[in-house]
Amino acid sequence: MTESFTGSFTQQEPIPEDGIEAALAVLRHGRLHRYNTVAGEVAETALLEQEFADAMGAQYALAVASGGYAMSTALRALGVKPGDRVLSNAFTLAPVPGAIASVGAVPVFVEVTQDLTIDLDDLAAKAGQAGVLLLSHMRGHICDMDRLMAICDAAGVQVVEDCAHTMGAAWRGTMSGRHGVMGCYSTQTYKHLNSGEGGFLVSDDPQAMARAIILSGSYMMYARHRAAPPPEAFAQIRFDTPNISGRMDNLRAAILRPQLRNLSSQCAAWNARYRAVETGLRGMTGLTLIERPEAEQFVASSFQFLLLDWQGDAVRDVVARCAARGVELKWFGAPDPVAFTSKYDSWRYANPAPMPKSDRILAGILDMRLPLTFSIADCEQIARIIRAEVLAVYQGQADK
Ligand SMILES: *Cc1c(COP(=O)(O)O)cnc(C)c1O
Repeated sequence: MTESFTGSFTQQEPIPEDGIEAALAVLRHGRLHRYNTVAGEVAETALLEQEFADAMGAQYALAVASGGYAMSTALRALGVKPGDRVLSNAFTLAPVPGAIASVGAVPVFVEVTQDLTIDLDDLAAKAGQAGVLLLSHMRGHICDMDRLMAICDAAGVQVVEDCAHTMGAAWRGTMSGRHGVMGCYSTQTYKHLNSGEGGFLVSDDPQAMARAIILSGSYMMYARHRAAPPPEAFAQIRFDTPNISGRMDNLRAAILRPQLRNLSSQCAAWNARYRAVETGLRGMTGLTLIERPEAEQFVASSFQFLLLDWQGDAVRDVVARCAARGVELKWFGAPDPVAFTSKYDSWRYANPAPMPKSDRILAGILDMRLPLTFSIADCEQIARIIRAEVLAVYQGQADK
């Protein structure tokens, strides 16, 4: 009998009990708005920001309504204007070019390599075209950050990091989000912390962070933040910066604080699952694994592999056969985008030029989530199923 997997690829863990308790306390006192406090009270949101800044090793942190909001706020805080060009990845998630478009700027896509990271040669060639790079560490893959920063510094390009998939990860000992001038994170359900919706910005730049805080809708209550620049940094900025409401609230903050305390053990649990799948798929002809560089202290909450240069029909066949056995693979290369879009040519409003190098990689990427509700044994079973079905389709192709 062939085995099938019965777990759900979209089922995250429950909110920890201490998070539920903290949320109930907020619901019982009713002060959900972050600036609604009684004398002597420090809001959950302000405490969360302080703890997040500490966890990331940043001077300043701001909690906001979503990861997408964090990115558009970062671009605004750095002075990106309508019509400006902003560099970004050809392979990322729709809210990344969306953040660029939301400020009236124009995305300039940079090719993706076989390691699923931004192509640094292409970045070097295009660096002169823009003042800002919105760098997405898509699916948790981190490029050579030393070389990336050298290219951007030499070209005068400011780097904003999209760390939606790298919260808790690092490159050569420096945490993801701490290489560029600002780092952005998401706490949407499928990311490393879960508050349904939510996000963070971190920075050491007092001017940029003061602008971000006013932009987020602080009114003149920024002094109630605990991970904010000193009041002097706001002296002029508070008059020159619009309020574009996107605050975090105390209910979400209460849910997030206990999760943040567990972040490193959660990251270790993801990586153990990732390695179990990777081990199960090693040494197959036709299937390319993504090798992780030594300098990358990754956090893998999802798994990718490539069926490079396979016919579309054969890839579709693998996806269908795995699905029939309970393993949900997402094919980013499908010509017509389904569910979450991740490919530059799905964003036609940006009028992207064709990118044949990236097309070859994107046509071969298969992806799946690894929620922590899966056991190691589940991950081993998933790998066995993928292995068998890839092999079956591969041999069928060879026999044709
Ligand atoms: C989820 C995600 C975002 C945006 O996060 P939201 O909180 O959903 O707005 C940004 N970048 C990537 C790569 C993501 O996966």
